[in-house]
Amino acid sequence: MSESCNSCSAAGTCTTDSCSSEPKVTEAQKASHVGKVIAVMSGKGGVGKSSVTSMLAVSLMRQGYKVGVLDADITGPSIPKIFGVTGRAGVGEAGILPSKSRDGVKLMSLNLMIETEDDPVILRGPLITQIVNQFWTEVIWGELDYLLIDLPPGTGDVPITVFQSLPIDGVVMVTSPQALANMVVRKAIKMVRKYEPHIYGLIENMAYVQCPDCTKRIEIFGKPKGDEEAKRNSIPYLGELAIDPLLAELSDAGKIEDYQSPAFDQIAKRLAEQIKINSDKDLA
Ligand code: ADP
Repeated sequence: MSESCNSCSAAGTCTTDSCSSEPKVTEAQKASHVGKVIAVMSGKGGVGKSSVTSMLAVSLMRQGYKVGVLDADITGPSIPKIFGVTGRAGVGEAGILPSKSRDGVKLMSLNLMIETEDDPVILRGPLITQIVNQFWTEVIWGELDYLLIDLPPGTGDVPITVFQSLPIDGVVMVTSPQALANMVVRKAIKMVRKYEPHIYGLIENMAYVQCPDCTKRIEIFGKPKGDEEAKRNSIPYLGELAIDPLLAELSDAGKIEDYQSPAFDQIAKRLAEQIKINSDKDLA
């Protein structure tokens, strides 16, 4: 590796001799054709980003699309658990083979490559970004309509690497009503704008709890502000999701593919519209 490569986000995974040459296409990439690459991002942890990524994957799959999820939250990977996938990822001649969920979503996560799922991942930033790059360059994703990337929260090394090195078409922002989460989501939106993928919109998760005995909404984190926050940042508002104990229960049991949510179906519909609007703009 040359001296000048040290500061590059692809350091260690790049297969070119000099930065002026085109990156070499790997065997795994030759064996893959990925339609849209969508990153799911949040400013803050715990707002439900991985849950939204998983629900989105399930929703797209139910619509007949071929879907993959790249778990880029290397130190806090939760995607395999949410889908109930425990086996190790395979290795083929051309690269790493993603695992498949019960209903056929392709998954790649560091937790599918380590011995025991609760072993901690003790790695420094450059190694973490190298792994994320390899999940793109060395995984045989095959034919996919959508690859969803579950980013770690915030605006650190991994989101920077992903926006610099992967062909991201657009981003879905997830937030919750806490003021702090909204303040940090603004930082995330500003960061995405530097790299210029489309921002498809904002989802406000955990907006309220529906009283089980009446029609009242209980806004336990204060009044939802997703709509206002989206307007303030000039991005589309995709909708809100309630705190639903069934979602938490099914996620913990690895049965996200059994979860049905009319509210999320509406969000997925609005997202599909935004993807189409932005694709048409790109083609114009
Ligand atoms: P993040 O990826 O932002 O850190 P997760 O998706 O892992 O957040 O969610 C954190 C926890 O909250 C998980 O236990 C998840 O099951 C739960 N959760 C997320 N969204 C909801 C919701 N709308 N209703 C109930 N529980 C939720």
